Amino acid sequence: MKMKIRCPSCGRLYSFLIPPRCSCGERLEISYDYEKVDPFRWRNREPGVWRYRELLPDVPEVVSLREGGTPLIRAKLGRELGLNVFIKDETRNPTGSFRDRLATVAVSHGMLHAENGFVVASNGNAAASLAAYAARAGRPAYTVVPKLIEQGKLNQIVALGAKIIRYGESVDEGISYAEGLAEGKGLYNVTPESNLVGLEGQKTLAFELWEDLKPTHVIIPTGSGSNLYSIYKGFVELIEVGAVEEMPKLIAVQAEKCSPIASEVLGTEPKAEPTKALALYVKSPVMKELALEAIHASGGTAVLVGEDELDLGQRLLAGEGIFAEYASSVIVPALLKLAEENYFERDDRIALIVTSSGLKGHYSESREKFTVGGTKLEILRLLSGRSMYGYEIWEALEKPLKYQAVYQHLRELESMGLIEETHRRGRRVYYGLTERGRRFLETMG
Ligand SMILES: [Zn+2]
Repeated sequence: MKMKIRCPSCGRLYSFLIPPRCSCGERLEISYDYEKVDPFRWRNREPGVWRYRELLPDVPEVVSLREGGTPLIRAKLGRELGLNVFIKDETRNPTGSFRDRLATVAVSHGMLHAENGFVVASNGNAAASLAAYAARAGRPAYTVVPKLIEQGKLNQIVALGAKIIRYGESVDEGISYAEGLAEGKGLYNVTPESNLVGLEGQKTLAFELWEDLKPTHVIIPTGSGSNLYSIYKGFVELIEVGAVEEMPKLIAVQAEKCSPIASEVLGTEPKAEPTKALALYVKSPVMKELALEAIHASGGTAVLVGEDELDLGQRLLAGEGIFAEYASSVIVPALLKLAEENYFERDDRIALIVTSSGLKGHYSESREKFTVGGTKLEILRLLSGRSMYGYEIWEALEKPLKYQAVYQHLRELESMGLIEETHRRGRRVYYGLTERGRRFLETMG
């Protein structure tokens, strides 16, 4: 085996699942025999993730949909700014996001251990990727996705035949649930926070950037931090094999509303609220420490982007001919901010990573207007006065409704993030409006 993972502290060997830390607490790292790798041989091979096979795990059989090898496009926007700006268009991957790089490696690697199938905790893109690659491999896929998720991603997961388990409000809450499911059902877990092997696929993004551009700066939308860290690891390996002398500066972009990683870099108060850039809604990222190491070791920085800048970002990318999801669009306002602060030099080569397609859909509040019918609206109005429990709401509605139907409405309103449990008294569960529910009710008049 060319890839070997041995704990540097206690010597324990890992090959099946590779968690971020050994059971003794030491951090695990996947490494290769770098002296034997000649990166200049890659250019004679077909483009794609497996072009870099010397720096990928050995697998029994490659499960591939021709992922990676995505185009790098010069941004017109750069001309206006007087900078060299390029867009790495990851929407061109088979399922429309960079996560296909993870899925091809993790599924190929896990095949021998996945008789019962695969599982992933994801806020959408990795779930869609797993669904596609598990289908390709003829194995079942289980996806643990949060309540807040774009409809397009759900459609994609369902169409590709994966099972969906809705759990938690943001993706990090589903990680241990997926671990439990993997253990209980004997599934191979490809969640990057539980198994580092998929990041080996994601790091090929760095190899492609090196081959096409040799960037000085890489601007990366950052939710869980796993993409940022994999790109960092890719460049560390390029240094190891003698291809690169200096690491490009890695710049993490987060939403002002959910900023656990960027706030740490910038020394601001971190927030953990839902953002329209849903794929960046990771409240307490497991890989935060690794992401911070990547930013600091590369000499990079972080940028925060406001909700009102997301549409601008999306529009400016559309002007380049690229339709990106909000979570990817943050890179444009981030670039503009840094340019305004004169962060860049004239001959810098700046790469923007567009991680995922806009076709995956928005999570818009207006969409809810179609699913919140009369009874739900009445319930919201009741709860705008005070917290109430189920039976009390049923009585107050004064409608020929079954008691169970009211509970169903409450569950749905809760899953839409419009109401929440406020407290319990004995066996009574009291519900009240969330901030979102309150805003929703206002817009409904
Ligand atoms: Zn150990």
